[in-house]
Amino acid sequence: MKFFLHKFTLKKLFTIGLMFLLLFFTVGFASKCSSDKKPKKAKKSKKKSKKGKKSLKLSSKSKGKKDDSEDDEKEKSKSDKEDSDEITGKDESSKDKELVDKEKEKKEEKDKKATKNPVKKEKSSASVKEIWKDLIKGNKKFVAGKYTKGKFVSSRKKLVKGQHPEVIVIGCADSRVPPELVFDKNLGELFVIRTAGNVADPIALGSIEYAAEHLHSKVLIVLGHESCGAVGAALSKEKMPTANLRAIVSEIRPSFKLEEECKIGNDNNIKCVELNVENSAKNIVNRSPILKKLVKEEKLTVIEAVYEMESGKVVRLE
Ligand SMILES: [Zn+2]
Repeated sequence: MKFFLHKFTLKKLFTIGLMFLLLFFTVGFASKCSSDKKPKKAKKSKKKSKKGKKSLKLSSKSKGKKDDSEDDEKEKSKSDKEDSDEITGKDESSKDKELVDKEKEKKEEKDKKATKNPVKKEKSSASVKEIWKDLIKGNKKFVAGKYTKGKFVSSRKKLVKGQHPEVIVIGCADSRVPPELVFDKNLGELFVIRTAGNVADPIALGSIEYAAEHLHSKVLIVLGHESCGAVGAALSKEKMPTANLRAIVSEIRPSFKLEEECKIGNDNNIKCVELNVENSAKNIVNRSPILKKLVKEEKLTVIEAVYEMESGKVVRLE
């Protein structure tokens, strides 16, 4: 009997043990499965971040040094935003709205920057009257023996990217009448063409057209001067030794319709000089359809003036 009892207990114990073992394996397997799933997710996100980093590197390589940090920042914030969107589960419409708002902000910033350029605005709004007043102010300084525009280094640097001269001067090539000094002007302020007798051939005309049409210069000064050698040569009626010199005097001679009158009482041929300035100004406009159109539209004003040799004064012809 005892043996039977013992045998029964052993059998029971064996069954219970087997059940425990089964339970242990089942629990173990289930926990293994769940632990296997988690790292997979982590791996996925790791892969994603690596991919992001790689694209960052590629974009930074393709752009300039200065843009690198900005682009990295942009990419970073973009990827951060995307990440946070993924977490919070933002929908497409809210994303679009944010993008539109950002574009709007950018545009507003750009407009602000554009209005922060007072120099350009001030220059473009100056009237012809103001421009002439400013030129005479500069001439008064020259008459007084002053030249105030000596800061060439900073001016050079400012003008590297371009020029916006408001004034074109066609003056005589005479070494005693340099427009920049006469009007106390700096680099980039006057667009100057100089020929003997301040007459315009096709190349000089083309140069004026370039300044008026392309650089939007508003004023053209035709500047003659007392004791002009070219005017004197034209008056002398002497035969010029070369074809090129003949070209100059033949351009000036038609100015003197009343030749005798222009000579009377004028030691410096001042009346003849004035007539030549008038004729030169007339020819410039008549020989260029572009300039004629600009004058008609009041986008270009022609001013006739004469420089007095001794005083240094510039006098406007009425
Ligand atoms: Zn001259």
